[in-house]
Amino acid sequence: MSRYIYTFGGGKAEGGANQKNTLGGKGANLAEMANLGLPVPAGFTISTDCCNDYIKSGGQFPKGLDEEVDRAMAEVEKIMGMKYGDPDVPLLVSCRSGARQSMPGMMETVLNVGLCSKTLPGLIKQTNDEWFVYDAYRRLIMMYADVVMEKAEGIEPKEEADIKTQLEQIMYDRKKEKNYENDTDLTVDDLKALCDQFKERVQSVLGSEFPDDAQQQLWGAIGAVFKSWNGKRAVSYRRIERIPDEWGTACNVQSMVFGNIGQKSATGVAFTRNPATGENKFYGEWLPAAQGEDVVAGIRTPNPLSKEAKTTQNAHLPSLEESMPEVYKKLVEVRNILETHYKDMQDLEFTIQAGDLFMLQTRTGKRTGVAALNMAMDMRNEGLIDDKTVITRLNTTQLDEILHPLVDPAAEEKTRPVAEGLPAGPGGAAGQIVFTSEDAVQWHKAGKKVVLVRKETSPEDVEGMRAADAILTSQGGMTSHAALVARGWGKCCIVGAEGAKVDGPARKLKIDGKTYAEGDFLTLNGTKGLVYEGELPLIDATADPRMNDFMKIVDRHRTLAVRTNAETTKDVETALKFGAEGIGLFRTEHMFYGEGAQEPMFLLRRMIMSDSTEERRTALDDLYPFVKDDIKQVLELMHDKPVNIRLMDPPLHEFLPQAEETQKRFAEFLGIDVKTVAQRCQALHENNPMMGHRGVRLGVTYPEISEMQTRAIFEAAAELITEGKRPVPEIMIPFCCDVKELREMKALVEEVYQEVCDRMGVEAIEYKFGTMIETPRAALTSDEMAEASEFFSFGTNDLTQMTFGLSRDDIGGFRETYMDKGIFARDPFQTLDAHGMGQLITDSVEKGRRTKSDLKIGICGEHGGDADSVKYCFRNNFDYVSCSPYRLPIARLAAAQAEVE
Ligand code: ADP
Ligand code: MG
Ligand code: MG
Repeated sequence: MSRYIYTFGGGKAEGGANQKNTLGGKGANLAEMANLGLPVPAGFTISTDCCNDYIKSGGQFPKGLDEEVDRAMAEVEKIMGMKYGDPDVPLLVSCRSGARQSMPGMMETVLNVGLCSKTLPGLIKQTNDEWFVYDAYRRLIMMYADVVMEKAEGIEPKEEADIKTQLEQIMYDRKKEKNYENDTDLTVDDLKALCDQFKERVQSVLGSEFPDDAQQQLWGAIGAVFKSWNGKRAVSYRRIERIPDEWGTACNVQSMVFGNIGQKSATGVAFTRNPATGENKFYGEWLPAAQGEDVVAGIRTPNPLSKEAKTTQNAHLPSLEESMPEVYKKLVEVRNILETHYKDMQDLEFTIQAGDLFMLQTRTGKRTGVAALNMAMDMRNEGLIDDKTVITRLNTTQLDEILHPLVDPAAEEKTRPVAEGLPAGPGGAAGQIVFTSEDAVQWHKAGKKVVLVRKETSPEDVEGMRAADAILTSQGGMTSHAALVARGWGKCCIVGAEGAKVDGPARKLKIDGKTYAEGDFLTLNGTKGLVYEGELPLIDATADPRMNDFMKIVDRHRTLAVRTNAETTKDVETALKFGAEGIGLFRTEHMFYGEGAQEPMFLLRRMIMSDSTEERRTALDDLYPFVKDDIKQVLELMHDKPVNIRLMDPPLHEFLPQAEETQKRFAEFLGIDVKTVAQRCQALHENNPMMGHRGVRLGVTYPEISEMQTRAIFEAAAELITEGKRPVPEIMIPFCCDVKELREMKALVEEVYQEVCDRMGVEAIEYKFGTMIETPRAALTSDEMAEASEFFSFGTNDLTQMTFGLSRDDIGGFRETYMDKGIFARDPFQTLDAHGMGQLITDSVEKGRRTKSDLKIGICGEHGGDADSVKYCFRNNFDYVSCSPYRLPIARLAAAQAEVE
């Protein structure tokens, strides 16, 4: 028979921290703390396997489990000197859920299990505290009815009609009637009466009696903990966090210790370092005369742990350090032991029973990006962790968070948010509120920082959203228009802040009875979804020298090169600052869009409108100087770093004037008939331009275009060489599907190369010729493609489109459905589809390198800036990844993590 139970307590344990799969995180760490000799109330963990067997069998406990439980309970009783269900020295237990990975608040726990008419008198006699015993009893009835009798039974009451709310109401009514402020004001008689009322209500609402038997309570609670694995909240949390359903939860049955026996008792939570700032200071909250959940539930404002951890809200409350200096000292010792042992910041739960400290939980604590950075670097300097560990201590989401301006965590800690919504766009921003898109644009022009406040946004608001420093909406979810747009821009945004009432026409915002008018200041933390009144200070964490030190460590452990996708000198400069080691994609067509593009665009259009090769050549000659200058600037900026230049890719008609008005202006410019222009546009129309006359096909049909571009590249390079520089251009041919296309372009490039070198008198230009792999056929025939290429660059945007038969611009209509149903685990345009498309890539790399062992391999699709995709590229022996300038630090970190892992 397989074993289901592992005991802990009395200075030893059968399990340990490395058994999270079997014991769950909570159970494994309770065992570990017991092994470390820390004061952990004795108990036992029923394994996740047992949970799975229980669920599989439709709610039957496996055979023999009862004997195992009896045996383990006997051991616990021996350590504690009490007996479960005993009338004289009754032991009470908690039944606590705990999965492999922490799922905070998603599953259930029942406290004070084992209290019944048989054990009540014994416990009163033992503790000499009737108030405490009835306080524990009313808590048990409430929790048990809620967790075991309602939720585990699958009963789904209407909102506000659930048993817990009903019982809370009964208690509230009594407090009101008696004019009590706190739970602790209730008298023993009140509590006794409450327990009776609770039991009656449970019977009448749920149709069965609250069990007055310790064994029945125990098994009911264990079963309910297991069932909570399939509770609604737990299931949806697993979908979001991609936690497999097969893991199951463990059930920890643990002796109760009581934080509610008088004023020398207390309960609390602590972080071994500050989770918001990372500061190496013990941080936490506690409540005297309270049990378990009271601290988190926000029933009373909790007290600060230490004198230095006081904030403006709790400064008037006594710290544990002041109230119980001896216990505080012990807690600090525990903190030190745990940090030295786990070598990471821990999140702790503790309870003080009549002056004795007990540890109830430890786990690696969640933290902000800034805190993650500070802790990693501090712990390195303290000699706690090595460089490789430092690299793994900041995930790419946390790094991304730091790359945006942030609300100063120190200021945030001291300020209470006025509203909360969904964290739709990262970073922080402070500004004056405006209520229309037009105002946002106007105020922004006037040099003001603005927060655009709307009920919801629509495409008409885009200009204002662009101008605003942050966006706040009272409605909408994570997939609302505002959220999508903000995320795309990396702009701070909070959506669905339901507490905020927006009155657009009156230009007023109401929060909690307070009205904010146009021009008032608000501060938004878009990473957490918190809204603050006034203007909180922002910090730029990238300026922090620690950030540089951290990135230096990252780069020391990285071999995969990082390049950037960039064309403008501004982007190239940014990219260099963020560590670009080359350009992985320079799109030649960019120069026809945006600022200063008017003249080249007209020349290009003239070229496209040409009827004959002759005409086209003349037009290209006029265009030439623009193209050359553009390329030369970037080659010069990049010095001796490779610059991968892609020849013309989009279908030509994309450049032609579509509106009648622009067609007319263009016709005037050319001195031709507007009808001719319209006809030519018509002629170039394609039904499916993404698979039409584009990419290398342009070069094959209009070689003079490729020739002009190639000449521009080589002449720019030759000029730079003459000026004493060292340009390293790479010429990349897009959208190929056959090596013959490549051979044709290669011959053309070599001819131009020779001509330019001879004419300009340079001996050689260091350059490479290669292809994008972005059609499945190119991938499948990579052995041949490599014969005519020195490098491959995977264009994973097109390759994804072609592999899935899925247009990136049209996925919006069904993406959510596909994600919800789990057909797509990830958006394939965001994270490279390793399972399917990965086969094309692996195959292509293998075939390509078989033909040419030193074939250089990179990626230039959107995926180059996605952490998981970068790791995929590393595992497939890529030489480099390329991404937009702002994603570079993330790519660098992901690459280093891939190596360390
Ligand atoms: P969660 O995972 O939701 O935090 P826990 O199982 O940790 O649930 O328990 C909820 C609360 O009850 C915590 O504050 C915990 O410290 C407290 N608690 C759990 N077991 C005991 C116990 N045996 N004695 C005293 N308090 C307990
Ligand atoms: Mg807990
Ligand atoms: Mg492409």
